[in-house]
Amino acid sequence: MVINIQPDEIGSIIRKQIEGYVPRMRVVNVGTVLQVGDGIARIHGLDEVMAGELVEFEDGTVGIASNLESDNVGAVSTGDGRTIQEGGSVRATGKIAQIPVSESFLGRVVNALAQPIDGKGQIPASEFRSIESPAPGIISRRSVYEPLQTGLIAIDSMIPIGRGQRELIIGDRQTGKTAVATDTILNQKGQKVICVYVAIGQKASSVAQVVDTFRERGALEYTIVVSETANSPATLQYLAPYTGAALAEYFMYRQEHTLIVYDDLSKQAQAYRQMSLLLRRPPGREAYPGDVFHLHSRLLERAAKLSSQLGEGSMTALPIVETQAGDVSAYIPTNVISITDGQTFLSADLFNAGIRPAINVGISVSRVGSAAQIKAMKQVAGKLKLELAQFAELEAFAQFASDLDKTTQNQLARGQRLRELLKQSQSTPLSVEEQVATIYTGVNGYLDISNVEQVKRFLAQLREYVVTSKPNFGEIIRSTKVSTEQAEVLLKEAIKEATELFLLQDR
Ligand code: ATP
Ligand code: MG
Repeated sequence: MVINIQPDEIGSIIRKQIEGYVPRMRVVNVGTVLQVGDGIARIHGLDEVMAGELVEFEDGTVGIASNLESDNVGAVSTGDGRTIQEGGSVRATGKIAQIPVSESFLGRVVNALAQPIDGKGQIPASEFRSIESPAPGIISRRSVYEPLQTGLIAIDSMIPIGRGQRELIIGDRQTGKTAVATDTILNQKGQKVICVYVAIGQKASSVAQVVDTFRERGALEYTIVVSETANSPATLQYLAPYTGAALAEYFMYRQEHTLIVYDDLSKQAQAYRQMSLLLRRPPGREAYPGDVFHLHSRLLERAAKLSSQLGEGSMTALPIVETQAGDVSAYIPTNVISITDGQTFLSADLFNAGIRPAINVGISVSRVGSAAQIKAMKQVAGKLKLELAQFAELEAFAQFASDLDKTTQNQLARGQRLRELLKQSQSTPLSVEEQVATIYTGVNGYLDISNVEQVKRFLAQLREYVVTSKPNFGEIIRSTKVSTEQAEVLLKEAIKEATELFLLQDR
């Protein structure tokens, strides 16, 4: 066979091939470690890296590009970074930090990278979310109108919290801040609220205890715990709240109600300060970097009540901040107070005087929650607040006076009983109908006949009596949200009968 080779044709084919040649080569952005120490690496040669992009070191450690300078990049490592070597290569990944998200996270304990740390194996997930995402805008929101019951009488009656609100829990160390937050999570049982508890810089034993409480009380099944303990790298302690927020957001945008607790933001700010100082960013007040306000504002702004178009999901945030000797005018407390919709102030004096939860009602506020309070609670709470305020004034004055007239004595006696009524042991949240019954009893003077020491026991018995003998009372409050005339009659009967039983016991 003779093949007719035509040089012209071959030439044109080759030319075509060359013109259409697409190089199948991937450009990888690689740099070299110049200097490494304290979890910070300075990298040369990462020219096209983004701010906040994940970079991978030679040993597999992941870092976050934080400082982009003209001749080098400062990156913080998310591991201990002990095996990163000077001169080693660093690869830019082209990704901003993100975590997997799914329903399967419920009931699990994870770290700031959303990896499980509870020994129960991998968490299946098919979706990802950036850990930093923009907060919903004005159009995407609606105002807060549904209550988020904490189960604590002092809060639900006088400093009520609504779904989508941000309420700061602030106080000195060991004043029951964590207890208020965890009790609120326990109280969400059966309320279809998904909870995220973010533990930052705490002792591992404290976190283990909180997880145990959740498990024992059946609260873990609707809760995700994100934990970075005190010995974790500063970077991870800094990231943990954003990871928690991303998990809560996943559920919020799926039309669910969520509650997130950041325990606590003072420790996160300290971790961020450590990172910033090592990155040689200029220190400002209390040596915190200049952007520490933005650290917390961009986190807390993510809490929201979404509009009807977006499905009405919500994310209620309870950030916790620790104060030193009750000083709320320090840098971090003032910042967070100004970002949140109110603060619940816990005072060490009250705690030590045995008033627990140690909520200082006088200086605590909730700026949006009262719109969310149910009518039955509003009916009794106004009087409670007024009487307690009068009592506080009178008590200070009565310390100096020797003989007091009868009305003053009565007012003092009432006040003491009301204060007793607000005391609640840890992990005993009360339903809203129980709270209404309790406050009604106090403000209408039904406690005045008993001794102050008996108040707690009597109220516990009364609440049980209402549940067992007058179930209709709870039914009415739950369905109508109003304390109707019929409900009031039932409650009065219950109080009368329970008082008789109580007096019989004592005889
Ligand atoms: P830290 O500053 O260490 O984080 P904290 O302010 O979070 O402390 P908690 O750990 O909640 O305080 O509580 C301190 C102690 O007070 C704990 O031993 C807790 O059991 C106890 N406590 C908290 N609330 C109550 C309460 N309502 N009744 C009785 N004890 C309580
Ligand atoms: Mg605590």
